[in-house]
Amino acid sequence: MTRRPLIAGNWKLNGTLGQAAELVEHLLPLLPQSSAEVVICPPFTALPAVSAMLAGTTVALGAQDLFWKPSGAYTGQISAAMLKEAGCRTVIVGHSERRGRFGTPDPDMDAAVLASFADNDATVALKAAAAAAGGLAPICCVGETLAERQAGHADAIICKQARAAIGRIPGDCSFSEIALAYEPVWAIGTGEVCDAAEAERICAMIRGVVAEAAGSRAGEAVRVLYGGSVKPGNAVELLAQPNIDGALVGGASLNAADFAAIAAAA
Ligand code: PEP
Repeated sequence: MTRRPLIAGNWKLNGTLGQAAELVEHLLPLLPQSSAEVVICPPFTALPAVSAMLAGTTVALGAQDLFWKPSGAYTGQISAAMLKEAGCRTVIVGHSERRGRFGTPDPDMDAAVLASFADNDATVALKAAAAAAGGLAPICCVGETLAERQAGHADAIICKQARAAIGRIPGDCSFSEIALAYEPVWAIGTGEVCDAAEAERICAMIRGVVAEAAGSRAGEAVRVLYGGSVKPGNAVELLAQPNIDGALVGGASLNAADFAAIAAAA
């Protein structure tokens, strides 16, 4: 089975309306005509404006999070239907910056702020299922901290997170619409990239988890991405790995030329 490469840019807490418009304007002419699916994930507030700018292009829109309930007394939350209405095709779920599992805690971030990033395996499962049921393609993030890797627990933690992330996906959803992103926490925003051979080993392991849980066709169909300091200089080697179907890109997605070069490597 051929899997379409997916390159997703996570803008995080970056992008006022003016900045978002400027970045999209620079990016669109630089993107290659390739078979890869390219998605950008601006902050919630910029989604409708960016959606309008992407109309008629091959670039899709994604959000950085969602809530699993469709409506109700959940102050500050955003549902799958709201994201669809804003023009989203995809949504990131369970990013380590939302699981409250930072590798190197930000000294400005106190315990109360960390606690407000409440995602865990259970909420990630609910969010991924709500996204899939709502017609959004979830990108479910998994990955170990440096301490967990050094303790020899990386594989067990990643498998547990991956199993949980797909555990509630409705039976009628196609796994070609689901992505899992291996994002070692120690490689996110640090400039430290996971060795390509090790990233390939982990991504193959994640595919195996999906195959075991949902069947071999699901394992073949699911897209497994790598994320963690992906840059133009390392993208070619990472994306050449047989079990790495794309990249989730943070910092480099804020630079139009860098993000376009990563997309060209897919
Ligand atoms: C991310 O935020 O998912 C990420 C991989 O960030 P960066 O590319 O900056 O390491």
